[in-house]
Amino acid sequence: MAKVKYYYDADTLSYRKIVRKKRTTFKYATVFIVAAALFGFLSFFITSQYLESPKERQLSRELQNMELQYELLNKRMDDAIAALENVEERDNAIYRLYFEANPIPEEQRRAGFGGVNRYKKFEGFDNSQLISETNKRLDILEKGIVVQSMSLDEIAKLAEDKEKFLEAIPAIQPVSNQDLTRMASGYGYRTDPFTKIRKFHFGMDFTAPRGTPIYATGDGIVRRADNSSTGYGNHIRIDHGYGYTSLYAHLYKYNIRVNQRVKRGDLIGFVGSTGRSEAPHLHYEVFKDGERINPINFYYGNLSPEEFNVLLRKASLENQSLD
Ligand SMILES: [Zn+2]
Repeated sequence: MAKVKYYYDADTLSYRKIVRKKRTTFKYATVFIVAAALFGFLSFFITSQYLESPKERQLSRELQNMELQYELLNKRMDDAIAALENVEERDNAIYRLYFEANPIPEEQRRAGFGGVNRYKKFEGFDNSQLISETNKRLDILEKGIVVQSMSLDEIAKLAEDKEKFLEAIPAIQPVSNQDLTRMASGYGYRTDPFTKIRKFHFGMDFTAPRGTPIYATGDGIVRRADNSSTGYGNHIRIDHGYGYTSLYAHLYKYNIRVNQRVKRGDLIGFVGSTGRSEAPHLHYEVFKDGERINPINFYYGNLSPEEFNVLLRKASLENQSLD
C-alpha cells in the first residue's frame, strides 16, 4: 500500500493530503522504464563482449581439443613420413641399385598435386591453415606410399627376372663329379688324341663310364638331340636364353626330346663314346652369343672356392683331350 504524504497548510492551520497529478505519475513511470531498458541493454551488450556464455565456453573448449587432436595427428604423420623415408632410402640406395634401376628422384616422390586448388574448401575459417596444411601433408604421404609401392612392384619384377637369369645360365657341372676326378681335359690348347697335333679344345672333357647320367646345367629348351654335327656324335644342345647355349657330346643315349623344356639338374642323357671320341666321356661346351667360352667360369653353382681352385688347376693342365 502506497504511503500517504501530508503537508501543513498555514491558511487552514491543518495537515492536508498531498495529491499528485496523474499525468506526473505517468511521466515518471515512462522515464523509469526507458532508463531501465537502456541500462539493461547496455549491460547485456557489454558483458556479452567480454564474458562468454556457458555455450560459448563449451564450444571454445571443443575447438581447443580439436586443435590439439590435429597437432597429435601431425606428430603421428611425422612418424609415418620418417618410416616411409627410411624405406625410400633403402629402395634407392640398395634395392634399385642392386637391380640396376635408376633411383627415383626426391621431386618425384614428394610431388604434391598441381592444377586446381584442392584445398579451397577449407578456406575462410580461423583454422583453415591448420586443416589445409594437415590435408596437404597427408596427400604427400599418400602419394609417397603409392610411388614406393610401384617401385617395389618394379623391383619384384626385376628380382624375378634376375632369378630366372640365374636359373637359366649353365652353372653346374654336367656330370656328378664329387671328388673332381672326372674332369679330364679343359678349355684351351690340347693334344688331339687321334692326330697328336696341338689344337684348340673348345670344351671340357669329363671322363666317366658308359651310361653315367648327364644333367642339364641350367634351365632351358632342348634345341637339338641328334648326331648330324661332325665329330660330336649323339649330342644335345640346350638354349638357356640370354645368349647362352650348352652342348653335350658323344652321348650313348638321350633322355629328352627336341623342344622339351628342362630344368637345371634334369637328367638329359647318358655318357657314351659316339662320334670322334677316344673313350667314353662327356665333351661339354658353353656358347655365349654364338662364341664358345670356357665352361669352367660357370661352375660356381655347386662348388666351394677350394673345390673350384682344384678344378681350375686340373682344367688348365695342357694334356691330351678325349675330344
Ligand atoms: Zn672334348
